[in-house]
Amino acid sequence: AAKGGGRGRHHFYDDDLHSDAKERQQLEQDLRDAIAENALELYYQPQVRTTTERIAGFEALLRWKHPRHGYMSPARFIPVAEETGLVSQIGEWALRTACRDLARWPEEVRVAVNVSPLQFANPALPAIVTSAIASAGIDPARLELEITESVFLGDDKSTEAMFASLKGIGVRLALDDFGTGYSSLGYLKKAPFDKIKIDQSFVRGATIKGSRNGAIISSIVSLAEALGMETTAEGVETLDELDLVRMLGCSHVQGYIYERPLSLEVANARIEEGLDAVAQGPRSARAPRQ
Ligand code: C2E
Ligand code: MG
Ligand code: MG
Ligand code: MG
Repeated sequence: AAKGGGRGRHHFYDDDLHSDAKERQQLEQDLRDAIAENALELYYQPQVRTTTERIAGFEALLRWKHPRHGYMSPARFIPVAEETGLVSQIGEWALRTACRDLARWPEEVRVAVNVSPLQFANPALPAIVTSAIASAGIDPARLELEITESVFLGDDKSTEAMFASLKGIGVRLALDDFGTGYSSLGYLKKAPFDKIKIDQSFVRGATIKGSRNGAIISSIVSLAEALGMETTAEGVETLDELDLVRMLGCSHVQGYIYERPLSLEVANARIEEGLDAVAQGPRSARAPRQ
């Protein structure tokens, strides 16, 4: 706003900055209260294997019913949690809760939990993961940790050591939001990922094999296959997008085309019905994008 120039504008800019800071501070306090009052929840979104059309696992996604703002997206409060360090506490709670919920689900089902860069930088993470697995009594191979490329911004040696000790526990590792960050291929060489999650921005509106997005998805799939990794197409909403990502060989699909994130109660009921998944959604409404 300050770029607009004029002396008067600066006042607005300062006011904006001030109220931004105040809003953040308020959000931080609300988040502390939410933790204390156990007001955070995990929702679970199915991840479907394309070849079998069965639910292979669920991604655990935080939900917060804010006392004044209603349901608030983690995209909004996770950054605040990350800045204030609260994400460590929230992340540990999410890990323990997801493992405990998983313990009641069929053996073939997995759970994926998002791990923030701050958690990843904490040398205590392997001990926390081990403890969550042990208290829930689950097979470590049923837990998948979703990590974004930003963890590679940290110190090389400790990043490598962290990957090694997590692998040593026997959990699976997924590279989340691939293609949106630094996307250095060196990361793929260095880190023992089991799966690459192709970011929604490449999937949304991709319906034609020869389109730019189609070419990008196809290259990521080839690369992943050559490295022995699986691929999840994120954010698939239409039948045409589903057709394309299946044709291009993505091993898994996650998106509204199958299910939205479900409350624990609904997820449990969904599992009771069986693990077969049925795609339900529109054909792409608009002309396919490049
Ligand atoms: P993410 O890990 O990439 O999670 C996928 C996001 O895509 C979720 O947003 C999910 O609801 C949304 N999504 C799934 N399918 C579709 C679709 O077909 N269409 C559209 N438009 N969206 C779809 P959500 O739940 O709002 O979470 C946003 C982000 O917040 C996550 O992105 C993740 O980075 C972060 N987050 C969520 N839970 C946790 C957590 O427990 N710990 C940490 N550190 N971060 C979390
Ligand atoms: Mg994720
Ligand atoms: Mg993602
Ligand atoms: Mg994301």
